Amino acid sequence: MEIDVQLRAERKEKLPAAQFGFGEKVSDHMLVMTYDADAGGWNRPEIKPYQSFSLEPRALVLHYGQSIFEGLKAFRRPDGHIALFRPEQNIRRMNASARKMAMPEIPEALFMDALLKLVDIERDWVPAEAGASLYIRPLMFGSDAVLGVRAASRYILCVMLSPVPPYFVPGGKPFKLLAREDCARTVAGGTGDAKTAANYGRSLVPLDAARREGYDNLLWLDSEQHRFVEEAGITNVFVQYADRVVTPPLSGRILPGITRDSVIRLLRDEGRTVLEQETDIGDLVRDIDDGRVHEIFLTGTATVVAPVDEIGFRGRRHALQIRDDGLALSLYRQLTQIQYGLAPDRHGWMRAL
Ligand code: PMP
Repeated sequence: MEIDVQLRAERKEKLPAAQFGFGEKVSDHMLVMTYDADAGGWNRPEIKPYQSFSLEPRALVLHYGQSIFEGLKAFRRPDGHIALFRPEQNIRRMNASARKMAMPEIPEALFMDALLKLVDIERDWVPAEAGASLYIRPLMFGSDAVLGVRAASRYILCVMLSPVPPYFVPGGKPFKLLAREDCARTVAGGTGDAKTAANYGRSLVPLDAARREGYDNLLWLDSEQHRFVEEAGITNVFVQYADRVVTPPLSGRILPGITRDSVIRLLRDEGRTVLEQETDIGDLVRDIDDGRVHEIFLTGTATVVAPVDEIGFRGRRHALQIRDDGLALSLYRQLTQIQYGLAPDRHGWMRAL
């Protein structure tokens, strides 16, 4: 399928990414694809100036939450080439979220072509500053205007681009997490493994409360027993012991992070034992206090890999030493060097334009 391209007459001024918070600035253009079940499905992709949508108040997404999104990055290499990190994984996960939310799947090859074309048109927006990148945000929502509770028959898929500074840099402030037993991010059999809006909306009240207590984010526990560690904020979590690294399994309640998968592979490449198994919060804080936990670290597209220096649980704070020669910073370096083209891409993760 062809892609319609309509470019702005004048481009916006590009300022250094460091001058903005995450996602504050968008590039000149966006990709839009619309779907209509009664008119043959997906329409021809359009790349056009970034602009607002017009939605009726009855638009189904506003009422019943059929809204999914993704997040990935493009990097500028020293030779000026642009490359994306594992974009086919984000497209696949977007379709998994779509299936869960009764939304249509997007043809993968068409989506990939259109997304790469958008980034190519906007290549000047990929920052050159160390640690900065172009954040790519695909979004899809149900747009028909009717009040009955049902799946929409029309959808809008769009992709917007935002130059972003690094979220965490080595030597930066480590993360403090609060584990609470009175709330959960998602439930067994729910939407925890989908990147859908409600999972994030629900997290904001406890997140705000945790921040008021001096924590950076929540360490989510399972919704049934409030015992098992699931995720930390919008990242996956790893715990390093002397002989193994442990991360929660893909139980259906957590998002299958693409950084999580990449970090597991890098750790196994080094010959380390990685176990995908449940971690009981009571055992975890006891092991921290007994000095058995070497490191806890977080993984995600925005964060890359970042160390944790404190877990709060049942009114007590459990502190961890941060090590400059630890696994978190080593993984951060390995992953960013692959992303910026400074180390060999042994797993074929980078998709160059
Ligand atoms: N968990 C949640 C809830 C997230 O939103 C994200 C960010 N996409 C992650 C984990 C990390 O996933 P990824 O490594 O693919 O960014």
